[in-house]
Amino acid sequence: MSLPDSAFDVAIAGGGIVGLASAWQLLQRRPDWRVLVLEKEDRVAAHQSSRNSGVIHSGVYYRPGSLRALNCRRGYGLLLDFCQQHGLPYEICGKIIVAATPEERPALDVLLERGTANGLTGLRLLGPEETREIEPHVRAVAALHVPQAGITDYGRVAQKLAALIVQAGGVIRTDTRVRRLHATPEGVRIEADTWEGMAQRVVTCAGLYSDHLALRSGASLDVRILPFRGEYYELKPEREHLVRHLIYPVPNPNFPFLGVHFTRMITGGIEAGPNAVLAFRREGYHRWDLHLGELAEALAFKGFQRLARRYWRDGWAEMQRSFSKKHFVRALQRLVPELQPDDVVPARSGVRAMACTPEGQLHDDFLFVETPRILHVCNAPSPAATASLAIGETVAERVLKMTLAKQGK
Ligand SMILES: Cc1cc2nc3c(=O)[nH]c(=O)nc-3n(C[C@H](O)[C@H](O)[C@H](O)COP(=O)(O)OP(=O)(O)OC[C@H]3O[C@@H](n4cnc5c(N)ncnc54)[C@H](O)[C@@H]3O)c2cc1C
Repeated sequence: MSLPDSAFDVAIAGGGIVGLASAWQLLQRRPDWRVLVLEKEDRVAAHQSSRNSGVIHSGVYYRPGSLRALNCRRGYGLLLDFCQQHGLPYEICGKIIVAATPEERPALDVLLERGTANGLTGLRLLGPEETREIEPHVRAVAALHVPQAGITDYGRVAQKLAALIVQAGGVIRTDTRVRRLHATPEGVRIEADTWEGMAQRVVTCAGLYSDHLALRSGASLDVRILPFRGEYYELKPEREHLVRHLIYPVPNPNFPFLGVHFTRMITGGIEAGPNAVLAFRREGYHRWDLHLGELAEALAFKGFQRLARRYWRDGWAEMQRSFSKKHFVRALQRLVPELQPDDVVPARSGVRAMACTPEGQLHDDFLFVETPRILHVCNAPSPAATASLAIGETVAERVLKMTLAKQGK
C-alpha cells in the first residue's frame, strides 16, 4: 500500500476475529479513514479465532445484562447476516444440554430462565424419550433443547473480514509484533519489532497477550491472562452416527468452563472436547510446550494461586483428561454411554485467553480498558467469536466517541 506509515487514523494491534471485526466495523462507519491492522503472525486468525469449536452460541449461559449476553445476542444476528451475505457456510442445527443425573436437573431450569431473560425463544425442556428423538444415543434424565445454536467456521469468517478490510482500503500488516504504544499529543507512536509508525487512535485486540500489551503501553490493569488449553478428540467416521448435532453437559457451577461436549463441525466430522488445562506457555498447543518465563509469571500471580486453591479438584480432573484418553472418554460417556475409547482419535487443540482477577476469579465478562487515544480489549473469551461483529460495533462506537471528544463536538 502507498499510504505513508504515519498517516493512519486508527491502528488495530491483533488480527484475530475481534481485531478484524473492529477494523471492518470502523470502515463501515468511516470509509474515509485509514485503518491499519498489525498482526504478529504471518497470517490473520492464527490463534483462538481458528482454533475453537466453531459453535454459534445462542446466549443461553450468560448473566442477563452482561456484555457477554448482550454482545452474543446482537453478534448472533450480525454473524448470520454476514455469513448469508458473503456465502460463508453455517448451519443452525440446535443443541441439547443434558442433565445426566437427577442432581443436575435443576440446573436446566436455571439455564431456561437465563436463556429466556436473554431473549431466546423456543427453549424446551425434554424428558428422556424426547431427548432420544433428537439425539438417539444420548442418555439423559432431562435435557434443554436450544434450537438457535449453530455451527460455522470462524477461520473463514476472519479471512472474509480481512479481504473486505483490504477491499475497503484498509491495510493489514502481518509479521509485525507490536511491542508498545506511546500516546503523545500528536497521536500514538507504535513500536513494533519490524516497523514503527503513528496513528491517531489505537485499539489492541491481542488475545493471549492482551494484558502484556496493555501493561507495556501504560494501562493500569489488575487482571492477568491465564492460558487454558482445550484438547479435542475426533469421532472415527464409522461412529459419527452416535452424534447428530451438538450435545453439551450441564455446566459445572464450580468451574468456569462448559465441560467436554460433542460438536458437529461445519467442515464435516464430529469433535469431542475441549477440556481445560493450564497451558505452560500462552500459545502452548501441545502438552509439553513450555515457556519458563510465561509459566513462572502465571505461577507467581496471586490470582492464579487463589484460583488453583479454589478449583484444584476440577483442575486435577481436567489434567487427568488431558493425559488419559480413558478419563476423557469417561466424561463423554456421561452423555453418550455407548462411546468407547476406540471410537475416538486425538485431534487438534486451542488455547483460551482467560483474564483472572487478583482475587482468583476468572473475569466473567468482556473487558475494555481505555486510556488516552488507546482502547484495549483485555478479555474476549467465548462467545467472542459469535459476538465478534457486535464487539466490533462497540469498539467502533467507542473509537468514534474518542475522536469526537478530542474535536470537542
Ligand atoms: C478451544 C476454544 C474453543 C472455543 N469455542 C468457541 C465457540 O465455539 N464459539 C465462540 O463463539 N467462541 C469460542 N471460543 C472463543 C473464541 O475463539 C475467542 O473468544 C475469539 O476467537 C477471540 O478472538 P480474538 O481476536 O480476541 O483473539 P485471537 O484470535 O487470539 O487473536 C489475537 C491476535 O492477536 C495477535 N497478537 C497478539 N499479540 C500481538 C502483538 N503484540 N502484536 C500484534 N499482534 C498480536 C495474535 O497473533 C492473534 O492473531 C473458543 C476458544 C477456544 C480457545
